[in-house]
Amino acid sequence: MVLIGLTGGIGSGKSTVARMCAQRGWRVVDADRIARDIVEPGQPALAELAQEFGQDILQEDGSLNRKELAHRAFVDTERTQLLNSITHPRIQEETQRQFVAAREEAVDFTVYDMPLLVDNGLEGDMDFVIVVDVNPEERVRRLVEFRGLDEVDARKRINAQISDHERLAAATHVIDNNGTLKQLAERAAAVCDDIEAVSS
Ligand code: ATP
Repeated sequence: MVLIGLTGGIGSGKSTVARMCAQRGWRVVDADRIARDIVEPGQPALAELAQEFGQDILQEDGSLNRKELAHRAFVDTERTQLLNSITHPRIQEETQRQFVAAREEAVDFTVYDMPLLVDNGLEGDMDFVIVVDVNPEERVRRLVEFRGLDEVDARKRINAQISDHERLAAATHVIDNNGTLKQLAERAAAVCDDIEAVSS
């Protein structure tokens, strides 16, 4: 199985490219989705979070109140580490489970959609690394227009991530997404074609 890391700054178009990869039959392992799934009601991580941070982090229907958890967890490094010690092992376990399942099912190409791939130094574990690249001003524009983020918040989130320069240095393939969605589809297809060709 060929394992392809897919990354890019917030709002760069990773999910859009991941959908295109799925359409051509590649398996997608979605890091953001795994992070959400492990704190769904009934999951052990959610019960542990409630035990450590208080029942008020739960909404009436038993689901996680993310805002309240953030208020309580991101107050100091000790509390942040406590949060990470509960969630990170579960995220890693589920990620590995999905990689193993893809191998067992003899999937040829698996794309790991992971915003923090380079921030977390995971690029070395991948056979290829695709970076979706968009200039920061355009990302701010898209985050405000399509996601309804406030402009200051969008800039803050971009600045909290690793620099574009560092991320691009880890790429084996770069997809320029400063153009239209049609151009993105063409460029993504060309990159996937190339990965399939060099892997065969
Ligand atoms: P996040 O980091 O928040 O998970 P992402 O990198 O997965 O974001 P997407 O959700 O794929 O990014 O794209 C962000 C928004 O920009 C979406 O609304 C998407 O439809 C839009 N978008 C992506 N590429 C283009 C493009 N070339 N032209 C116009 N809109 C685009």
